Amino acid sequence: MSPQGSASPLAPADTAGPAGADPRSHLLNDSTAEYYRRLVSEGVGRVARTVAGTSRPFTGVTPGELAPLVDGIDLDRPLGDPAAALDELERVYLRDAVYFHHPRYLAHLNCPVVLPALLGEAVLSAVNSSLDTWDQSAGGTLMERRLIDWTAARIGLGRAADGVFTSGGTQSNLQALLLAREEALRLLRKNSPTPPPVSEMLPKLRVLTSEAGHFSVLKAAKLLGLEPGSVISVPCDGDRRMRADHLARELRRCREEGLTVMAVSATAGTTDFGSIDPLPEIAELCQEAGTWFHVDAAYGCGLLASTTRRHLLKGIERADSVTVDYHKSFFQPVSSSAVLVRDGATLRHATYHADYLNPARSAEKRIPNQVDKSLQTTRRFDALKLWLTLRIMGADAVGALFDQVVDLAADTWRILEEDPRFTVVTRPALSTLVFRYSPGADAGGADETAVDLANLHAREALAASGEAVVAGTVVDGRHHLKFTLLNPETTTDDIRAVLDLIAGHAQEHLASSAARRSGSPAA
Ligand SMILES: *Cc1c(COP(=O)(O)O)cnc(C)c1O
Repeated sequence: MSPQGSASPLAPADTAGPAGADPRSHLLNDSTAEYYRRLVSEGVGRVARTVAGTSRPFTGVTPGELAPLVDGIDLDRPLGDPAAALDELERVYLRDAVYFHHPRYLAHLNCPVVLPALLGEAVLSAVNSSLDTWDQSAGGTLMERRLIDWTAARIGLGRAADGVFTSGGTQSNLQALLLAREEALRLLRKNSPTPPPVSEMLPKLRVLTSEAGHFSVLKAAKLLGLEPGSVISVPCDGDRRMRADHLARELRRCREEGLTVMAVSATAGTTDFGSIDPLPEIAELCQEAGTWFHVDAAYGCGLLASTTRRHLLKGIERADSVTVDYHKSFFQPVSSSAVLVRDGATLRHATYHADYLNPARSAEKRIPNQVDKSLQTTRRFDALKLWLTLRIMGADAVGALFDQVVDLAADTWRILEEDPRFTVVTRPALSTLVFRYSPGADAGGADETAVDLANLHAREALAASGEAVVAGTVVDGRHHLKFTLLNPETTTDDIRAVLDLIAGHAQEHLASSAARRSGSPAA
């Protein structure tokens, strides 16, 4: 505590003895409970004021401007006073943070968060249950299991399904592919009279995913000990969906070359395009080939709650494993994700017993220890956020929010199609649009490299102004811009205004570089 600690309205003096000098006054316990309430109210109050007062999604601050502020803080000299620490936090973080609730934040797969989930967040970190074992969580374990069952039922995985919450889609994909690898190795061993050692089988394993699949599949393959090049990228059609005919060809080729396809990872909502691979056809091919069918629905999972678009996920019910990111399309705060499997028994590949934690005899006694199914040990009760979301607003309301952004994306596609300043890559199935400022044809076909630079510049200039934040990506070697629409408050007026800003920045850049080339000053 600061010397004047007792002067602060937040000093725990009245609840924790003399001016909070006792380090124990920083623990949440019966004597600090009232102080805890005021402390968190103060922090929440400041966030509420910031959120109410943000006029831009970002201030445009640069790392160079912020780093000295952060570096200048001496972490070995506590301020003591929470109000002073919160003042400092406003300077180094809150003032310049990127605000996803702002309707002109249009960049990545980040959502504004629903209030019931924030309520859950407040509860879960204070109680601090750890979901690895029953004896560290009790009811939390049962609630997580209910939500896994709820999600599996929405997917249609059947009665043997199971799963577990994870930190995110990356971990969900890793775990799904771990199970797929173990199942593939098990079958190879079973089907061979003289099973070769694992070290000889691993180099023959392959994973097939589309060229628009997520890079976490590559990371997982590396962590799982697969060869470089073991992830084969299957070409997409014009709508950026995996081509089933190419998948069939790759499956055949692998078989002919004596390789084992341990999994096909289809994507239901690619990160760049929101495209959904043809799940029924892929399911069919996986079944014929006896291959594990994984669906990465990190982004598209919001459709599970939609009352009007659930059919877009048709075929997902045939998956062996599914990744869902509630922190993308269920409007949940980071982290909230899960991996689901058709056959719960396959989760045994992640089961290890420790005498001090989850001894084998606890499994025999059917004590529900979620660590038996998870790659993590200590694990947050993230499920509580989704629980309160379903209990307060309900799934239909979540689905309606996702439907709104999908509708907005369809409107935005029409706006882009009609605007001669832009070209748009695909008609969106979900809520992303990849487009390019491309004054092209009528301007005598501006040099494509200059247009690339103008698009890059527009994105940076927009972020620097803080007026809007958009993403960028590369399609067919050309720089494009990207909207990821996850905010139901964004309107087509916002979209039009941002497109005008982009065109203005890009046009200015083209004009000034043309002027530089011709040696005359820019107009
Ligand atoms: C975001 C995303 C992931 C990774 O999920 P994280 O929660 O960021 O780890 C995986 N796959 C797809 C398709 C994604 O969009």
